[in-house]
Amino acid sequence: MEATILYQGEVSELGYQWTTNGRDKEPRLAAIVEEGCLIRYADVQPGAFLTFADVEPTKDGILRFASEYGHELYDFDFLSGRSRLNNGQPGVWGYGATLQAWQDAVADMREGVNLWRGVKARDLEGLKEVIKWRENKDGSKWVSYEGKNRQDIVAHTAYHRNAVEYSTLREGEVLLPARYALQRLINARLEGLKIVPHLTMMRDGQTELEQRLLFQPSNLQAVMWLRFAEVLAGGWEMRKCAAGCGRYFPITPGAPGARRADSVTCSDKCRQRLKQQNDETQKHKKSPQKRTSR
Ligand SMILES: [Zn+2]
Repeated sequence: MEATILYQGEVSELGYQWTTNGRDKEPRLAAIVEEGCLIRYADVQPGAFLTFADVEPTKDGILRFASEYGHELYDFDFLSGRSRLNNGQPGVWGYGATLQAWQDAVADMREGVNLWRGVKARDLEGLKEVIKWRENKDGSKWVSYEGKNRQDIVAHTAYHRNAVEYSTLREGEVLLPARYALQRLINARLEGLKIVPHLTMMRDGQTELEQRLLFQPSNLQAVMWLRFAEVLAGGWEMRKCAAGCGRYFPITPGAPGARRADSVTCSDKCRQRLKQQNDETQKHKKSPQKRTSR
């Protein structure tokens, strides 16, 4: 069953800026607000986790992402108990997440996405770099995921608390342990984030109200990891928009927002933009005489 995900993260229409007004002097991404300013709700489509993994982990790259998806990387009230405090700078509201927290979150997602890509492409050589079969002098054996930022024992002969049954794996294989490692990573993230399931009444084109089960992530990281889980479970094929907007879209029929299998752009707007770009290139190719000669 496809999970219905409802996310209403806020995006400041006035944008964001990095501020170091916090007590710890760490740079934090804060929303620019004014009296009666406009807030829109973030549209975090299924492919948003892939866009996030692509984010250039610099102040500019993160600011660009936040301008589209919002700044609520995690629950500020949940973590610090001081949600949305005015930090003393007029027009800048809230402490926001630190640059380090953003960079860590991007690196974490990137690691998950790389593992997923390796699994999908059946890149056995690449997977061998992170899936390691080990043996101890006492004869115990295990297979672990050894990534850049994360180490995780997938299966062990001596114990299987929270791990996969060792005997279900063929020694030396990497694909299945990699799939387990990815599943364990996503589950670990989902457990650590606040995602509240609840019932809601929906009309859904019918006259009768229908009850539906919704998952309501409360922050950006939660919704992106949940989207990742959904894409994985659905086996959806994702494609990057060719118009350079940075978005990814599903091309598997039935996935939310799915486009046709031959689509190369995420939206009609981007299709138009790509067409214009191509027309421009064509024009230049056809009229070399217009170029200034050296
Ligand atoms: Zn696009």
